[in-house]
Amino acid sequence: MAKKVGARTKLREHFLSNIGRVMDSYELREVAGGITEWARRVRELRTEEGYQIQTHNDRSDLKSSQYLLENPKPQPAFEREISKETRAFVLDRNGFTCQMCGAVAGEPHPYEPSRKTRLHIGHIIDKSQGGTDDASNLRALCSVCNEGASNLTLERPSAQKLLIQVRRAKGGDQLKLLQWLIQKFPKQTKDLSGGNN
Ligand SMILES: [Zn+2]
Repeated sequence: MAKKVGARTKLREHFLSNIGRVMDSYELREVAGGITEWARRVRELRTEEGYQIQTHNDRSDLKSSQYLLENPKPQPAFEREISKETRAFVLDRNGFTCQMCGAVAGEPHPYEPSRKTRLHIGHIIDKSQGGTDDASNLRALCSVCNEGASNLTLERPSAQKLLIQVRRAKGGDQLKLLQWLIQKFPKQTKDLSGGNN
């Protein structure tokens, strides 16, 4: 006797072999073997397994009976509960920069130049230690730091250490730094350079 394959497994395999194709409820019901709980199984793929299956609630261009999976990689559990708005707010507040190593989203990673920096949202106080999903407990972390690879080597440099490095740098690089600082602190720049003259 052939081994029975569960409806959730069938649905998962079907989504994964139809990445980027919009599917309707009729098709998914068929795939699930015609069972009435097919929609609940799809929901479990989202909530329990982390597959970013999209519906009309996520995208206005989908009709109410349509489903779409674009990314075959499930999202880790801790990122699933954080809303898109909170993610965007935290990334923007952190200047799209990893708060541990300073890597910038989309640029080559300073410690692994072959990798483009991808940012995740991490908890400052871990959820297991009672940390919340509130934006005040969240920060942008690159994949390298998120995996814990650079924890030990990276302390925040002090102003004194930074100044030593900056003094040694070439003039052109110092100017680049100045431009970056002015962009980051426009108001303070104005105040420091004599205000409203
Ligand atoms: Zn990092």
